[in-house]
Amino acid sequence: MSRYPPPPRNYTALPTGPVRRGPRDVRHDQRLPGLLSGVLLLRLEALDPLHVGTGGLAPVRRGGGGVALALDLVTQNNAAAIPGSSLKGLARSTYEALAGGCDLHGSCNPRCTACLLFGYVERQQTFAGRVGFEDALAIKPHTVPTVAAPLPQAFQPRRAVGRRVYGPPVQGRATPVRALAAPAGTRFLSRMTLRNVSPQELGLVLLGLGVDGSFAPRVGGGRYHGLGRVAITVRRARLREGRQVRPETLRQDRLARQVEAWLEAAEPTSNGREALTVLRNPGGSR
Ligand SMILES: [Zn+2]
Repeated sequence: MSRYPPPPRNYTALPTGPVRRGPRDVRHDQRLPGLLSGVLLLRLEALDPLHVGTGGLAPVRRGGGGVALALDLVTQNNAAAIPGSSLKGLARSTYEALAGGCDLHGSCNPRCTACLLFGYVERQQTFAGRVGFEDALAIKPHTVPTVAAPLPQAFQPRRAVGRRVYGPPVQGRATPVRALAAPAGTRFLSRMTLRNVSPQELGLVLLGLGVDGSFAPRVGGGRYHGLGRVAITVRRARLREGRQVRPETLRQDRLARQVEAWLEAAEPTSNGREALTVLRNPGGSR
């Protein structure tokens, strides 16, 4: 028994719904008619301090002198970075919620719509997926300071509840734990790669990343404490449809209209629409 009452939870579990299967494995070795292949350039702007941890500790100077340890940060070029795997995980979990992917218990066979888009590993069978993310690197790494954000005590018990969406931080009791973080306002660039992705699939991925501007997803650690909100926008696209020989580059107004069209093509399930409501209004305790 803890001597203290637990701090309140600040997350909501995304509703899980019936799993949508199939329709089929889409091959990688040739580009297929009506499907998109190429690259979207994404810009991510941290709205809160952002911490993707290495799992290790780093020394930081304490205010009154001396040195303390803080949770270390993934960096590239000496500035905070967001690994592509974190972005793919974020995109996949919201896609699963919106599109009816993977139930969270047991294996996924026949494959769900998320496995067929993001890939799967099961025994001897693997599929790399048709959507990938490169690491997001700070745009001006030399100008990005590292801050040490204090992390209050997390709510307990930390039960598994499925996919969580964190609301504003609760005022928990401060612990000695600090996490190195990139400050709010840091901007990053990443590339999302597509191989034979339908406009509907792309629309759902973008909707789940909050590209319509209706919410800012959280990425990285310390999310229960309000770290890691990012605003994601598409800055450029270079895509081919089907067997089109030359890729087309989209920018500015044409890109904005095209992103709008992809978002409109997205068809969340009815549970997915509920999940969107939670993503747009997170928080509350339950
Ligand atoms: Zn699945």
